Amino acid sequence: MSIADPMDLIAWRQGEAHVEGVALSRIAQAHGTPTYVYSRAQLVRAYRDLARALDGLNGMICYAVKANGNLAVVRSFAELGAGADVVSVGEMKRALQAGIPAGRIVFAGVGKTRDEIDAAIDAGIHQFNVESEDELKTLSAAAAARGQRAAVALRVNPDVDAGTHEKITTGRKENKFGIDIARAPAIAALAARLPGIAFTGLALHIGSQLTTIKPYRQAFARLAELTQALRARGIAVERLDLGGGIGIAYQPGPVIDLKEYATAVAETVGNLGCSLVFEPGRALVGNAGLLLTRVIRVKEGDARRFLVVDAAMNDLVRPALYGAFHAIRPVLEPAPGEAEAPVDVVGPICESSDLFAAQRPLPPVVADELLAILSCGAYGFVMASTYNLRPLPAEVMVDGDRFALVRPRQSYDDMLGADRLPEWMTAPGTGTAVRPRARGAA
Ligand SMILES: *Cc1c(COP(=O)(O)O)cnc(C)c1O
Repeated sequence: MSIADPMDLIAWRQGEAHVEGVALSRIAQAHGTPTYVYSRAQLVRAYRDLARALDGLNGMICYAVKANGNLAVVRSFAELGAGADVVSVGEMKRALQAGIPAGRIVFAGVGKTRDEIDAAIDAGIHQFNVESEDELKTLSAAAAARGQRAAVALRVNPDVDAGTHEKITTGRKENKFGIDIARAPAIAALAARLPGIAFTGLALHIGSQLTTIKPYRQAFARLAELTQALRARGIAVERLDLGGGIGIAYQPGPVIDLKEYATAVAETVGNLGCSLVFEPGRALVGNAGLLLTRVIRVKEGDARRFLVVDAAMNDLVRPALYGAFHAIRPVLEPAPGEAEAPVDVVGPICESSDLFAAQRPLPPVVADELLAILSCGAYGFVMASTYNLRPLPAEVMVDGDRFALVRPRQSYDDMLGADRLPEWMTAPGTGTAVRPRARGAA
């Protein structure tokens, strides 16, 4: 089992939780809360574990930037030689900014706009993963207009159930993603003859947080069949993009063994002579990050005890959006044998779904104590918003005994200063009251 346990991120020393050599209380003191904390060592470890497992498969690891787009995180993977899987021009720019060469960037997504397609052609990316006939034609026109040929992999929908949460399963017929596998030969044939298109192969991505190998095996086997069928029609298939989705342990339980994953790849598509692309996101960052938050107060309800913390669903939306489980630990090490009692850990936002944990057994915690919400490296900060006009949280990276602010907490000036009043509205404090327009006046 090579995926980190959520608890691997923290170590207890002198009675408190550390990430690598840094006490979490020091980070809170320096940068406040709520703050995302990432461990560079864990990022590197996750990448190296996967790279080692996939060694010999003629593959390229393209980190899925959407899981965590922080510059220092993406740069960490760039330094290790990773490519990038991007789903927007913003992510493409971030990958380039982090030093990932354009020739190692693949661009996925059902809704690429013409502007995004133009920008990606101009950047000279490795490959477009095309998800519809319409997108193929748009790309063809854009590339041909520039006298270029864009490398295309057709993303097919293999119609397998990834057995994951319904909001993150993507490889079933009724999902919006990919081209129906039955229609793929016709569209591949079209791609092979359209101007501006260099048809290179096939892609798929069946979902996120997969914890079993079977759906991968099924999907990869269908991809292999389709590859053979296209070749039989004289269409060359040189590249296969196998997507991401490898799950992590949010709590102790079964997760995918990377060696088994690699074996499934080798046994299904390994003998086709194709170069492979892997698009892991969560598996590389999920257990390398936590969300550090402070207890504002302990509220005794009639039937329940609530820990009201200073992080909320705007900072970490996964529990509200997916009902996701995140392990939570107090930063102060509980005394040995201290009894745990169930509490609800909630944020301050006016939504009942602003709840990080319900009836979770925790040791006694008092106001002002720090809590670590674990497994927050993936789909954490990237999904944060300013809902309730709460500024975006800070992000910190730890490396051994040092730590650095890799994104400052959003200031109130930045958050509130972004809005504009229309020129036909009087600014506050200028004396003139706004007179409503007379009703019915011409
Ligand atoms: C989201 C996504 C990924 C990454 O998924 P993870 O579950 O984080 O590994 C990879 N490829 C595509 C096309 C995606 O949309």
